[in-house]
Amino acid sequence: MSNKEFKDIPFDSPVQPHQLQLNTRIAFNCYPGISCFNACCKQADITLAPYDIIRLKNRLGMTSTEFLKKHTVPFEMDAHGMPGVKMRTTDDEPVCLFMDEEKGCTVYEDRPSACRYYPIALLSSRKADEYHDEQHYALVEEPHCMGHKETREISVADYRREQGVEEFDELNRDYYRLILKKKSTGPAVGKPSPTSFQFFFLVCYDTDRFKEFLNSSSFSNIYDVPQEEFERITNDDIERLKFGYRLLKQVLFGENSIPLKDGAYEKRMEERKEILEARRKLEAELAKQKEPFEDYIDD
Ligand code: SF4
Ligand code: SF4
Repeated sequence: MSNKEFKDIPFDSPVQPHQLQLNTRIAFNCYPGISCFNACCKQADITLAPYDIIRLKNRLGMTSTEFLKKHTVPFEMDAHGMPGVKMRTTDDEPVCLFMDEEKGCTVYEDRPSACRYYPIALLSSRKADEYHDEQHYALVEEPHCMGHKETREISVADYRREQGVEEFDELNRDYYRLILKKKSTGPAVGKPSPTSFQFFFLVCYDTDRFKEFLNSSSFSNIYDVPQEEFERITNDDIERLKFGYRLLKQVLFGENSIPLKDGAYEKRMEERKEILEARRKLEAELAKQKEPFEDYIDD
């Protein structure tokens, strides 16, 4: 175990403050027949990342829109309202809808990354002056989990391999980077607009509606994507997700990650000018209407 400790973990959190390295060995095992089988799935608080949603919606033969409606609840990841989604549980208790009392997880091969990692927590951080993020690990110890009493020892690296998290980490990495970048740039970038958040939701969670957007003139009038690449990103969920991350870097942080069509930028600025002018007039009208009420309140 490393001597380094996480400083901002609340004292009552089951996440232990000691940082684990990839070669740290933990005593843990989980298998059907263990006395606490399913206990963790009855206390599920699972935040979903984009690749988790792709795996689950394809397993269930649903569109992302159907999956989001039926199996998730939205939440705000920060004070600005950055949108996140959690897995829906039963109404009265936090029991995962995919849990079967006898069989255990009914989506096991496609279970989300958070379920695979448990009882290890993946914590990412990024310094304001550095581009790359760092991944850290910590042990989660909850009283219901008897796996910690087992004698099998395994390194964090081997546990990650055993649970198949590498593919999930690979395809969710840019998502976590976008969230960290928004956090670390904070006031420099300011609060993203509601439209930016809607777009973040579309790209990261609702990939089938994102595909509809890519096929619309709102996209083709602005972005210059070669036909071959366009077919790849519209036909393949994973290619679309990778492209979406690049597009979000452009939309949220102004990076030049996707080429624009000739003249599209100027045309857009012209349209934006008109929209901003209309919004300014509307706000001025609303301000005029507010005055009498403000006077009334002051009295
Ligand atoms: S998805 Fe599977 S492993 Fe994850 S909480 Fe639900 S039943 Fe448990
Ligand atoms: S050992 Fe822990 S992870 Fe495994 S079933 Fe029991 S509570 Fe869940």
